Formats: sequence, structure tokens, C-alpha cells
Amino acid sequence: METHLENCIFCKIINNEAPSEKIYEDDYVTCIKDINPASTHHYLILPKKHIRNARELKIEDADLYAKIVSTVDIILEQQGLDSEATRTGFHWPPFNTVNHLHLHVISPVENMNFLKRIMFKPNSYWFVSTDYVGSQLQLCS
Ligand SMILES: [Zn+2]
Ligand SMILES: [Zn+2]
Repeated sequence: METHLENCIFCKIINNEAPSEKIYEDDYVTCIKDINPASTHHYLILPKKHIRNARELKIEDADLYAKIVSTVDIILEQQGLDSEATRTGFHWPPFNTVNHLHLHVISPVENMNFLKRIMFKPNSYWFVSTDYVGSQLQLCS
């Protein structure tokens, strides 16, 4: 199984072959600061396994998916963020920026500018919630 792609920037970051600001890491995920933050806090939770995007998650990835989503709570706690003021979500293809699955954690929403609010608009065609992706996973089982 392909878990590491040589030309993938996020795989390089996960393997410390490219610079990043990691704020959390465990056996399954790495969390980095977004280099182009949409608000005061903007983090990306990356599965260490190379999965292209949220639509390509398979039912066998369900445990990993649960890990990704539960990492949000770890980050909120670590950074002292209010979940009510925080936006999370995934790009939905073909609107990916990087072809390695990543969950955006952005806080507070009120500090996001107009363009970023559109780019990370909840439950749009291009940016979807963790609940939506989780429900899609169930449909595949
Ligand atoms: Zn990758
Ligand atoms: Zn992104």
C-alpha cells in the first residue's frame, strides 16, 4: 500500500523532509500551522498515510478518520480555543489545494476575512464538515 509519495509536500513534511511548524504529532497524524493562515489560529491535521482527499477515504480508514477528527479536541485544548468559535472542514474534490487529505482547524471565525469565509464556507460544494465526510464513510460500508 502506498503510504508515502515522494512528490507530495505533506508527505515530505510528515517525514521531516520539508520545513513546517508542527504543533502536535502521534503515530497516526501530524498537525502543522497553515503557512497562509485564514485567522489567528489555522492548523492542518494530516493523516500520516497518504490519502488523496476526503472522497477517497475507504471504510478501512474509519479508525484513522476517527483519529483525525478526535485530534481537533486535542488541538483546541492545547491552544485554548473555543470550539464554538472554531471552523473545521475538508476540501471536497475537485477543489483540493494539496492532494493529501488535511482537516482545517480555523479559529476564531470572526477574524476571517470575506474571501477566506468563502473559501472555507461550511457545507459548500468545496468545503465539507467532518460529519458529512463521516456519513459518506458509513455509506460505503
Ligand atoms: Zn502525501
Ligand atoms: Zn487546504
